[in-house]
Amino acid sequence: MRDELSREREKKTMVPEAKSSKQFNPFEIAQYQYDSVVKKMDIDEGIKEIMRYPERVLHVSFPVKMDDGSIRVFHGFRAQHSTARGPAKGGIRFHPDVTLEEVKALAMWMTWKCATVGIPFGGGKGGVICNPKEMSASEIERLTRRFTTELSAIIGPTRDIPAPDVYTNAQTMAWIMDTYSMHVGEPVPAVVTGKPLAIGGSAGRNEATARGVFFVVREACRNLNIPLAGARVAIQGFGNAGSIAARLFFEGGCKVVAVSDSKGGIFNPNGLAIPKVIAHKERVGTVVGAEGGEDISNEDLLELDCDILIPAALENQLTGANASRVKARIVAEAANGPTTPEADRILFERGVTVIPDILANAGGVTVSYFEWVQNLQSSYWPEEKVNKRLELIMTRSFEDVFSVAKQQGVHMREAAYMVAIRRVADAIRVRGIYP
Ligand code: NAD
Repeated sequence: MRDELSREREKKTMVPEAKSSKQFNPFEIAQYQYDSVVKKMDIDEGIKEIMRYPERVLHVSFPVKMDDGSIRVFHGFRAQHSTARGPAKGGIRFHPDVTLEEVKALAMWMTWKCATVGIPFGGGKGGVICNPKEMSASEIERLTRRFTTELSAIIGPTRDIPAPDVYTNAQTMAWIMDTYSMHVGEPVPAVVTGKPLAIGGSAGRNEATARGVFFVVREACRNLNIPLAGARVAIQGFGNAGSIAARLFFEGGCKVVAVSDSKGGIFNPNGLAIPKVIAHKERVGTVVGAEGGEDISNEDLLELDCDILIPAALENQLTGANASRVKARIVAEAANGPTTPEADRILFERGVTVIPDILANAGGVTVSYFEWVQNLQSSYWPEEKVNKRLELIMTRSFEDVFSVAKQQGVHMREAAYMVAIRRVADAIRVRGIYP
């Protein structure tokens, strides 16, 4: 009986162990994940085919004058996976390893993320192959402005709305907004999100990802009968997502028993004093050595005796090698892609609830959507309103995904894909095929 059950569950897992994700480029992985879910869904075959590909990809090569007077040619990309439910939405990254296939995959994942939480955007992503760590601020500014010019044929507040991503930030968004506005002859704050508050950024954007994680974990606890008060939480990564999550869980009455960053982690079974850990990190640049914590490695943190585990750093942290030792009952993916398909299967079989990235960390893009709405209306919301609306969307989205997971007997990642794919397919179907 037990074997039958695990065979049945294995069949429903998205990527079988034999096909390790390492054999594929990121876009092939994204397509593979999509194919394995959509094949079980009752959707027109032509519409299934439409969703397998980006609607549009732009590849640009453009010159930038460097500080020493030399000219360098950079290569950049923007992929728009789907605009069926609204304008494309997604970050722009500056990184030496950016590839077209990566950008296409990330754009597809953005489509599913926006659809999972029901915000009226499709998915996009862009990037420039460059190493910002070796460039001056003015070189990065010129690169950003010229890249924006190259993209201006396809971006815009009703077409495609970029946001910060790896090695881009609020300042980068301000340059994009300014460049685009100069071209059209009027200020267009809604062309990007993640802007500084001075030019139309939203209150609450900085905390939104972590706050969204908190809301979905709270809902998971409610459904699984785990009291949130006193729940033991371990968090890997102490940057924007991880450190703010630590504070919110601490303030929410949980015991944050372990946190870590790239230098290592700290642990206290009775709970860490998170405000002191944050102050320590600000002073010395790492959580290691903060008062009241014993040292712990990043690997040990993942296997710690706790109720809730929040990977908030890198991809591929929970793998076939360690998933069987994870003791948490809930894993909430603040990071993108922290769980490999093998680990997904193992955790599902062991009854661990994994709240997938496209749901768990969608608070960021949700408040980006609020920023865009505020820009279009030229009317700005107080932070309480932003947080309240975020809470409504995250709570409802958790329920949508959790109920499909229960009904279909699949894990929450597959359920989230089902919810998202259905929404995009419905939009394509009712819009019809042009001409
Ligand atoms: P960040 O750069 O602010 O922080 C990353 C943290 O991870 C840092 O504390 C760093 O020290 C730590 N880290 C690096 N290597 C590590 C290792 N080997 N072990 C443990 N910790 C390590 O980044 P962020 O914005 O917090 O993003 C973290 C993750 O969350 C990424 O996967 C990102 O894509 C995802 N995410 C972030 C947002 C957001 O709004 N910030 C939104 C959606 C998804």
